[in-house]
Amino acid sequence: MSREPLMRMRIRVEQDVFIVRQLGRAVAREVGFEAQDQTRLATALSEVGRLLVAAGRDADVTFTTTAGGVPTLHVELAHPVPGDSARLRPQLALVSRLVDTMEVGDEETGTVVRMSRRLPPSSPALNPDRMDEIRDRLAEHVPGTPFDELTVQNQQLMAALDEVRAQRDDLARLNVELEETNKGVMALYHQLSDELEETNRGVVALYAELDEKSVQLRTASEAKSRFLANVSHELRAPVTAIMGLGRLLADESSDRLTSEQSRQVELIRGSAKDLLSLVNDLLDLAKAEAGRIEPNWSDVDLKAVFGQLRGTLRPLAVQPDVDFIVEEPAVARLRSDEVLLAQVLRNLLTNAIKFTAAGSVRLGVARVGDNVEFTVADTGVGIAPELQERIFEEFYQVPGSQALNGKGTGLGLPYARRLVGILGGAMRVSSTPGEGSMFTVSLPVSP
Ligand code: ADP
Repeated sequence: MSREPLMRMRIRVEQDVFIVRQLGRAVAREVGFEAQDQTRLATALSEVGRLLVAAGRDADVTFTTTAGGVPTLHVELAHPVPGDSARLRPQLALVSRLVDTMEVGDEETGTVVRMSRRLPPSSPALNPDRMDEIRDRLAEHVPGTPFDELTVQNQQLMAALDEVRAQRDDLARLNVELEETNKGVMALYHQLSDELEETNRGVVALYAELDEKSVQLRTASEAKSRFLANVSHELRAPVTAIMGLGRLLADESSDRLTSEQSRQVELIRGSAKDLLSLVNDLLDLAKAEAGRIEPNWSDVDLKAVFGQLRGTLRPLAVQPDVDFIVEEPAVARLRSDEVLLAQVLRNLLTNAIKFTAAGSVRLGVARVGDNVEFTVADTGVGIAPELQERIFEEFYQVPGSQALNGKGTGLGLPYARRLVGILGGAMRVSSTPGEGSMFTVSLPVSP
């Protein structure tokens, strides 16, 4: 660290304040400060000098530098009246912003103001040779008059104004650029929002079309249900009449028929029976589809339902190699519609019996989470995977699969699935051709 003073001077009268200002600038320039920093330092010096002179005492000014660490210029102004710092400190608050550090202190010898400012990194190194060189040059420095100082200050002011103007021009240019960029961004934004709007319009049109199609579909499906309901209703009366007449013809008490006539009447009665069951199935399905079936909720005793199914369906399970098993229900009660539930299970069991030649047909029930699951499992012909959804379509029957008794209508499963839906549940099937099928009806414990 070099604390060998670079320069000293004494301020006695007001004119010396100008001189110290000039000297300050000269020192700052010599050690390597740029123009603006030179002015800052000079201004700080003259301000402190002015305040010290105002106290009416001589003040000593000392310039030193430290070369170690960050090279720094230090300026100390001291005057021999102690206790002046309280007056100076508030007045120097603003000035302190012109330098890096400023301390005002009372010492035995008087009042001292110390300022420092770090040299810019670009400044040449402060080795002893250079210090001597600076000292020599400063010694040559001839202080000017206050007028000279005013001229210098004016020039600095002009330079500062020029800089402000240049900055203002830069700002204006930047503004123009910004405006242009903004215009570009806005154009892009408009283009994008136009495209978006167009896409939106397309989507809206698509939705409108979809809505229209679904309305058409709904109308068509309602028309179909209405048609089925009406036609089947109209058909029921004549079919019932045909059956009645057939029974009359075949009755023992009626006129005797030839054996050929008897055979034909039996054929008519058989056909009428099939027709009636078709008509009844159609009517049921149409009712379910039209939402005209309202469940009659009650606490269903599953033991009773299973008992009834066991009783009514056992006579149908006529295949000698088939075990017809209705398990003891593992769930005692369920809130549901007894009639609809029994109808669903009866449909599934009838199918299982129809399509099973050997093995077993089994009905069971178990609690699974929040649901009660009924399973109807058989070891019959099974259903190919790709047809396992189609069998729920109206009139669909797996081609080639021969029912063991009765032809069926292809309406049983769609109807059963409808009913399960009405009961708040779902029906699914899993099956392997040649091994058997399992239909599962899952109903919520509390619908
Ligand atoms: P239907 O039994 O009156 O023909 P369904 O709607 O009840 O009508 O059944 C449709 C078709 O699904 C049946 O024709 C049959 O091909 C098939 N199917 C239904 N249940 C079974 C089953 N348990 N095993 C094998 N195929 C079945």
